[in-house]
Amino acid sequence: EFEHIAAPLAHWAARTPEHPALIEGTRVWTYADLNEAVMAARNILLAQGVIPGDRVAIMGDNTAAMIILLLGASHAGAWIVPLNPRLSEREIDEVGHHATPTCLLFATSASAKTRQHAERCNADPLVIAGLGGVAVIRTDHPARPEPDRNIAALIYTSGTTGRPKGVMLTHRNLTVSARTSGAIRAIGPDDLVYSPLPVSHILGFTGVMLGTLTYGATLMLAPRFDPPGALRAILHHHITLMIGAPSMFALLTEYAALQGMKTLPPHRLRLIASAGAPLDETVKSTVEACFGIVLNNGYGITECAPTIAQTRIDRPRRDCSVGMLLPGLEARLAGESNGIGALHLRGPTIMAGYYRDDAATASVLDHEGWFDTGDLARFHDDHLFIVGRSKEQIIRYGFKIYPVEIEAVLNAHPGVRQSAVIGRGTGAHQDVIAFVEPAADAKIEIAELLDYAARSLADYKRPTEIHLSPALPMGATGKIQKSALIA
Ligand code: ATP
Repeated sequence: EFEHIAAPLAHWAARTPEHPALIEGTRVWTYADLNEAVMAARNILLAQGVIPGDRVAIMGDNTAAMIILLLGASHAGAWIVPLNPRLSEREIDEVGHHATPTCLLFATSASAKTRQHAERCNADPLVIAGLGGVAVIRTDHPARPEPDRNIAALIYTSGTTGRPKGVMLTHRNLTVSARTSGAIRAIGPDDLVYSPLPVSHILGFTGVMLGTLTYGATLMLAPRFDPPGALRAILHHHITLMIGAPSMFALLTEYAALQGMKTLPPHRLRLIASAGAPLDETVKSTVEACFGIVLNNGYGITECAPTIAQTRIDRPRRDCSVGMLLPGLEARLAGESNGIGALHLRGPTIMAGYYRDDAATASVLDHEGWFDTGDLARFHDDHLFIVGRSKEQIIRYGFKIYPVEIEAVLNAHPGVRQSAVIGRGTGAHQDVIAFVEPAADAKIEIAELLDYAARSLADYKRPTEIHLSPALPMGATGKIQKSALIA
């Protein structure tokens, strides 16, 4: 059992120093190489005056440099604050003011933003040699180190439903999560794991990066999601495990079909797992037909470090259950009616709280340690099903409507690539508004799509309006950003 998020790396560097830990393009980092680079980054940060309890913000895509900085800063005792380079200037400033980091670190790919930030912070970036142009900028925040030494990371939620909040996760939260979710996937040294999920997001960080290093496996870095790159990883680099958002699997399958591969040629994937957003049966069956293996599901939330439930590989599902609860988690359904209730959880992976926001913490976490996920759920056959987010539930003529059900119907139409449904208005009479992104080369008639929806949905659930959108707004984790649609 590891108690610090950087411990697995040192463990495997001692046992299998020559085994590849990371593959980035043509460069291979063995466990020994990676461990050495992490220790060097730690020493540079200590020399920069970083002390335990300091917040250190680190921005970068999925590169070796990003991972080295994250683990190096953690080794130095800092609370790491990973940032996605796709954040806007305003969002970066918002997080900066809230987290008050003493240092900002940037991996190369974000260098334009490095310069802009350096200017705004009146600082000259210091460039770390040997890490491909990583810059360290001391900020002018009047920051004080936090006394709590157990916090490993401060992760800002991507804000699908509102203002970003800083989730404080402990070393224990993250190491337990990486260990248990990796055990369910039976990750071992022979696995070559591929995932385009950003390591600046909790799922890429824990489920993918820490999960791989915990079991001495190899991580193949994908800078961001691109279908040709993912197909190459499958067919030429022989990855064994791929974790991604449902939209990534859907786009990959569509791309493969356009290349004349309705089913993929023989490959070595033993496990594909969709996570982070609702998976529907159309996507699941299309992806399975293409890959020739079961598409597993996984459900998580930043506040739960993140994995809550996963499909067990010995109990594959035909339906879109999110799987079984991770061992160690207790669940209850609050306000249950007809088997559906608000999912509350308790266990070793629940966050310490929101940083500098006791009111927000108290609204989701009670004194007995129960955390309100904000999701409505039901259990069947020991398996968990997510019915929808409580916040997104639409009330129409007094009936409850869950957007995912309508989205699943729309997504099953051959002309639809993906869709997003939101409620408009307040009180007991909300309208159901659907946004639809057409599939490649599809011509969609709104009237025909409304008729189609009417055939599968009770009258009160039918969309009041359907809007076509050539590209729905997507976050870096492959999730549709509904807040941008509501605005
Ligand atoms: P915010 O909390 O600010 O809205 P966010 O959407 O980015 O931001 P995350 O922690 O990334 O927050 O997402 C967690 C939510 O994603 C869950 O509460 C759930 O609604 C949804 N989700 C994640 N995985 C699944 C899944 N497999 N099936 C259905 N929903 C899922």
